[in-house]
Amino acid sequence: MSSNSASVLAGALLRQEVLDLHAYHVQDSSGYIKLDAMENPYPVPPALRAEIAEVVAAAAINRYPDPGAVTLKEKICDVTGLPKGMEVLLGNGSDELIQLLAMAVNKPDAVLLSVEPSFVMYKMIAIFTGMRYVGVPLASDFSLDLPATLAAIKRERPALVFLSYPNNPTGNLFSAQDVMQIIEASPGLVVVDEAYYAFARDSFIPHLARYPNLLVMRTFSKLGMAGLRLGFLAGSAAWLGQLEKLRLPYNVGVLPQLVAEKLLAHHDVLLQQAEQIKLDRAKLYQQLREIAAVKVYPSEANFLLFRVANATVVFNGLKQRGVLIKNLNGGHTMLTDCLRVTVGTPDENEKFIAALQETINQSA
Ligand code: PMP
Repeated sequence: MSSNSASVLAGALLRQEVLDLHAYHVQDSSGYIKLDAMENPYPVPPALRAEIAEVVAAAAINRYPDPGAVTLKEKICDVTGLPKGMEVLLGNGSDELIQLLAMAVNKPDAVLLSVEPSFVMYKMIAIFTGMRYVGVPLASDFSLDLPATLAAIKRERPALVFLSYPNNPTGNLFSAQDVMQIIEASPGLVVVDEAYYAFARDSFIPHLARYPNLLVMRTFSKLGMAGLRLGFLAGSAAWLGQLEKLRLPYNVGVLPQLVAEKLLAHHDVLLQQAEQIKLDRAKLYQQLREIAAVKVYPSEANFLLFRVANATVVFNGLKQRGVLIKNLNGGHTMLTDCLRVTVGTPDENEKFIAALQETINQSA
């Protein structure tokens, strides 16, 4: 069959929503100072690498992984300080959990609601699971527009609400009081996505017992394990027992399970790195504030959102100088001429600032 007839066939067979989607674009980053994806810039310390190498060498990769990932789940409950009676469900990254949640509640006409701008996968997953997506704009300072959000919840009765806490890509932490009002007003499930918890240190996990419609989602991607693909949902057994039925039995492989267990046994090392990133975030924020052509927004995550006169010119100028960040221009009207930079090592941050200064001076 020619590729032409395959594309005709695909056009005829695929759902219209899928044909209309643009794939989640990941930029080629080889050779760049990589500050585009909110990764932890620090590699695993050498002593710990040797321990991991031993564990990997002895791993039974001829066998399927433990489908219940019992040891890893215990370790996660332990380091997270999960309240009694709460459990975790593991995902191959938290992206997979967003999809699993959407599949679980997707009755005919079910709505997934989030705020905008926020993490783009909420909308994409709503579309590719066939849910109706409703995005409520944030206020101009990127805080929640509570009256508009409550009105949308009343009108749309969403089966599922996602709130990124802190929010990606704006970096701010919404008011906890506002989030609680949203949980209380929601007839459906509310998921507080704490992907950036390590850099914010405020959590809804202590509120899980209080709200029967609340789940908290986290990922280890920002804490030095992006390559392992591991996220989790925390909540009551009543919810997780049902959701567990949708989890594919071996979604977390043997190696991610073993390596994550090892890394979590040294959780303090990862937390120290996160503390360093928080200090460097403060410094980078100050440096960006001092550049007249830049408006930088406060952040409680491991990245900073900033606005310039022409984001695409600045993005390309940085790229030419070997620094890769994220151009958010065109993604959402509130993000016109916005860029997002991940906090890197002190050396990477210096190189980014120097390249930014040069780019701005050149284009002035
Ligand atoms: N939630 C938020 C808010 C994110 O920003 C991201 C990643 N950028 C994710 C979830 C997904 O993370 P992962 O799939 O790596 O766990």
